[in-house]
Amino acid sequence: MKGEILFKNATLVDARGEHGTADVLVGEGRILSLSGGEAQRVVEAKGRCLSPGFFDLHAHLREPGQEVKEDLRSGLEAAARGGYTDLVSMPNTTPVVDRAEAVRALREKAAQIDRARLHPAAALTQGQEGQVLCEARLLREAGAVLLTDDGRTNEDAGVLALGLRYAASWGLPVAVHAEDAGLRRGGVMHEGEVSWRLGLPGNPAYAESARIARDLEVVRYVWEALETRPQGRSLLHFQHLSTRRGLELVRQAKREGLPISAEVTPHHLTLTDAHLEGLDPLYKVAPPLRTWADVEALVEGLLEGSLDCVATDHAPHTEDEKSLDLLRAPFGIPSLEVAWPLLYTELVQKRGFPLSVLVARFTDGPRRILGLPPIHLEEGAEASLVLWDPSQRRTVDPKGFASKARYSPWAGWGLSGWPLLTLVEGRVVFEGLG
Ligand SMILES: [Zn+2]
Repeated sequence: MKGEILFKNATLVDARGEHGTADVLVGEGRILSLSGGEAQRVVEAKGRCLSPGFFDLHAHLREPGQEVKEDLRSGLEAAARGGYTDLVSMPNTTPVVDRAEAVRALREKAAQIDRARLHPAAALTQGQEGQVLCEARLLREAGAVLLTDDGRTNEDAGVLALGLRYAASWGLPVAVHAEDAGLRRGGVMHEGEVSWRLGLPGNPAYAESARIARDLEVVRYVWEALETRPQGRSLLHFQHLSTRRGLELVRQAKREGLPISAEVTPHHLTLTDAHLEGLDPLYKVAPPLRTWADVEALVEGLLEGSLDCVATDHAPHTEDEKSLDLLRAPFGIPSLEVAWPLLYTELVQKRGFPLSVLVARFTDGPRRILGLPPIHLEEGAEASLVLWDPSQRRTVDPKGFASKARYSPWAGWGLSGWPLLTLVEGRVVFEGLG
């Protein structure tokens, strides 16, 4: 059997576990064999890990309209460098992605860029204004994979209920940025000891949990009313969980069998409000960085599966915008290029978090939310893969990012686990083998 690439002595890690080493032969877009064979190119992978490609459910690529912050090319390049083969783009662009033609245009443009694959999300309501629902069926037919007004919050519970019902009938999950606008008010950071000391307007943890509590009741209402209940998929997806209390509510609702899912970001798993002591807007993000107790709870939630996946919420802005003072700078942290090494280092290496569980939260978890089958490392599987190095340590240097946002709260951190090669259906979309 002749293939295109042979990974010699690669350590296989997927969501099912760690499977020792194998010679993985890739060709025709698939894994042809786990026991070697002839290939045009041989990659020595001793001491390196091969995993299914990562899937990001939440990234802001800013196209159309905000290309000064990021565009499809730079964003999908950054994703490929981060080991991502697939990415869901948020629709809060200029204009908002709320029509089928806009979804098609994004997909056509992304198809010309041979990097990570793009799966556009579309808005739940027209213009993300929270009033009039978008055409879920047409958006679905155009290739939208979920509906969300992210960037904004869904204030009208009646609109959300109708939207959930409509989206569910077309097989689309709805993702929500769960924060109560009234409780959050003008908060620029977590409300607590640090915000009080600094005299800055705070965003209380209860802004998140109050909204989650309401949304869970909305899901319950819709779920009871649905005539045909889609089995095994998420109806409502909570984005970027940040609080221990919010997690408790999600955990309890999942135990009761409500069709919900939830994600957590790399920053909410590694940073706290104490990082804002120096008033640096690099750490300004929505929802805000919380306390160490919240971080501990979120890591636990990721482990047990109450949190289904890690999603980056990659949110690039220009350096000028991020250089404004803390009150005026925009919210957001870019992380596509560091998410995997960051969490591999901070969770697996430093805290003993199980590697295969982390891989699951980057691969199977997000895929399941969209109703996609898992990719496991076996013969015949789609060759959308990442080869990464668990041992070589490198310092985060944002100046070398492919993303236009060349700054990072993790600049200078020494991390391991860097992706070396990313393949989409057997094609190399990132090569960092040096
Ligand atoms: Zn959001």
